Amino acid sequence: MQTLIQSVLALQHDTLEAVDVLLENSQIHTVAPAGTLPVVPDQQVMDGQAKLLLPGFVNGHTHSSQVWQRGLIPQLPLELWLAYVFDSTPRQLDQFYWGAVSTAVDTLLSGGTCLMDHAYVIPGQEMETVEALVRGYKAVGIRAVVAPLIQDLPFASGFPKGCLLPQSASPRSAAELLTLMEGLIAEFHDPDNGIYIGLGPTGFHRCSDQLLRGCGELSDRNNLCYHTHLLETRAQQRLAQERYGISAVQHLQNLGRLTPRTSLAHGVWIDDADIELLASTGSILVHNPVSNLRLGSGLAPILKCHRAGVNVALGCDGAASNDAQNMLEVLKLGTILHTVTDEDYEHWLTPEQAVHMATVGGAKAVNLGDRTGTLAPGMDADLVLYKLDHPSMLPRTNPLQLLVLGRPTDIVEAAWVQGRQLINQGELLTVDTATLHSVLRRQLIATEGAQSQHHPVESHYRDVMLNR
Ligand SMILES: [Zn+2]
Repeated sequence: MQTLIQSVLALQHDTLEAVDVLLENSQIHTVAPAGTLPVVPDQQVMDGQAKLLLPGFVNGHTHSSQVWQRGLIPQLPLELWLAYVFDSTPRQLDQFYWGAVSTAVDTLLSGGTCLMDHAYVIPGQEMETVEALVRGYKAVGIRAVVAPLIQDLPFASGFPKGCLLPQSASPRSAAELLTLMEGLIAEFHDPDNGIYIGLGPTGFHRCSDQLLRGCGELSDRNNLCYHTHLLETRAQQRLAQERYGISAVQHLQNLGRLTPRTSLAHGVWIDDADIELLASTGSILVHNPVSNLRLGSGLAPILKCHRAGVNVALGCDGAASNDAQNMLEVLKLGTILHTVTDEDYEHWLTPEQAVHMATVGGAKAVNLGDRTGTLAPGMDADLVLYKLDHPSMLPRTNPLQLLVLGRPTDIVEAAWVQGRQLINQGELLTVDTATLHSVLRRQLIATEGAQSQHHPVESHYRDVMLNR
């Protein structure tokens, strides 16, 4: 099966050029100057004029079940927000299926072809939860890495001076969780069909060294992505000093966990020495600008990371701390947010660099840099075709700049994952979005409790973090 996209604008070495692109089966076969590839029988031919073709973006960090918590949690700092998230998290397997479908659809319709689901899984029903998520991703056809959130320390351990809080029951042991992960890998890791299992210890703040290290061994042995939250808030930075006496990044390095397969979500509170470590180890930082602002976490030092040569990717983060899953919004904010951190405008990110973060950076973040994220022969055909004659892309100035800085809407004309076309003329070909919307419409979420501003952990947080 061949598809020929004729005379389409594409980024070639950071310059927009008109090219012909031939897809064959699951891969990109040829990229050649416009008008040079012949049409052959039985080929699907698409007119690429007034269109832009880019590698699909990677939504490098999200939590799909939070679709059900969009618009639910008040504006609070992470530690307090999280208490509400735990209290209102979905418990029904079909909610996980539809959460995956919704996250995949919103990612696709904003230019993404792959996502990292750092997935909440129902305790005691982990296999069933992951099965529901995988079924959702396969139904949509998006490439997905599912890294179940696992932790072996209790909730209170995530707070500085957490020993002063009432202690809830400990979660499962590191050994039990690692056995569980081995079972999930054996059952669901399925690269041929674009489904991957990742190791996703929640973060150093709620994981023992045994769990952090054990996940690393599984990642090494099976060549799987290792994904974890890192220094998202000032509270976590204080906690790392309290627990280890060194930065959390140095601690991960001491555990042997900084590798090119490791992606770290947030990194808002990393310092210059941490940045050097991330660069020298080839680890990937996943920047989540919308979530960082929603939760007041701060501005991640992305310009410094960029100049130090750290691989940076972009993510939406879950819909409970973003309230959407729009990759174009993340590209815009992730590009312009950092101008205020450096007066030297020569250090500011360009639209081309933003696209590079979302594509090449994202692919590395999910350990798939050799398969996706690049428009070149031999790479998988994970591509998105944008309409340049849509009102939100007018007038015809610099299409790439307008795509990144304009946060356009409804401009995805077509999309492919592993050569399979998932969107045509702006319409999803795989799942019926009307059904998705009616499911979301039907299900009433209990908002009681989630609207209260006074969670039991709040006074502790105020004492420790605000009464300095
Ligand atoms: Zn997260």
